[in-house]
Amino acid sequence: MTAKIILGTEVAKEIREELKKEVASLKEKHGITPGLVTILVGEDPASVSYVTGKQKTAKELAFHSLQDTQPADISEARLLELIDKYNRDKNIHGILVQLPLPKHINETRILYAIDPKKDVDGFHPVNLGKLMIGEADYLPCTPAGIQQLLIRAGVPIDGAEVVVVGRSNIVGKSIANILLQKAAGANATVTICHTRTRDLASHTRRADILIVAAGKPKAVTADMVRPGAAVIDVGVNRIGMTPEGKAKLCGDVDFEAVKEIASVITPVPGGVGPMTIIMLMANTVKAARLAAEKK
Ligand code: NAP
Repeated sequence: MTAKIILGTEVAKEIREELKKEVASLKEKHGITPGLVTILVGEDPASVSYVTGKQKTAKELAFHSLQDTQPADISEARLLELIDKYNRDKNIHGILVQLPLPKHINETRILYAIDPKKDVDGFHPVNLGKLMIGEADYLPCTPAGIQQLLIRAGVPIDGAEVVVVGRSNIVGKSIANILLQKAAGANATVTICHTRTRDLASHTRRADILIVAAGKPKAVTADMVRPGAAVIDVGVNRIGMTPEGKAKLCGDVDFEAVKEIASVITPVPGGVGPMTIIMLMANTVKAARLAAEKK
């Protein structure tokens, strides 16, 4: 059996069309345009490229979008002042600070300073706490994208055995929490694995849905996957350069071998990646809608 390949690029397009309609309706009914500011500190090429992608999508969706680029030596106090300014700006519904920040800035302090109502990345402890108790306003974007991929590909989640490889706050623990909720598109039985897990393969082989976010090329090989499983590869590993000078990427799953036994699988690139940006846009639209409903 060869797996059906779930293209995040296609699913993201579908969601983009839905969001366009919601943006138009927000304008028509409430006179509100979703506003997103992306704050970039320094000129790290990967961060510049991520922020450019986010701004491009925001513009395509006719958001009020703002790019605030600051020098790498900006002080933490100045950055906190900027966040405070955007927290109070009624035309801005979402604030995204591109990570990582330079070493002299305390990332946690910056993320905690964002008004949770404008935390469209879903990283603020208030939003992560709400996710845990099943009352989330904003889900972190990458895990929210994974859930949408599963739902829209028709993968049964209710009652499924889900195994997550990786326990970071923003991917592993969050997707585990999302799929564990007593809610539609969830209700799974979830196991989280990490580097101290004894016999990783014994866990991954039990999975109906295997989600891999380890950041290690080929951490999951074909012998670790149950035939017919749905496999979501979150990993993005740079493994050299293409002849055109672009970064060559691979995931955490041995794609070529695993696609021969899985029922569905996501590729890298073109799988989870495109979903992260579109879910950021969905969170921003939601933030604007919540602000409109409060008015
Ligand atoms: P992270 O913070 O480095 O966490 C990696 C996790 O994987 C850790 O919990 C680690 O365990 C675990 N791990 C590493 N190697 C393992 C192994 N061989 N067996 C079992 N567990 C292992 O990474 P992250 O931020 O979650 O990101 C994970 C990957 O997803 C990265 O490649 C990242 O680039 C990618 N990513 C992609 C997107 C996207 O939009 N597509 C978004 C975010 C992240 P310990 O806790 O024990 O160290």
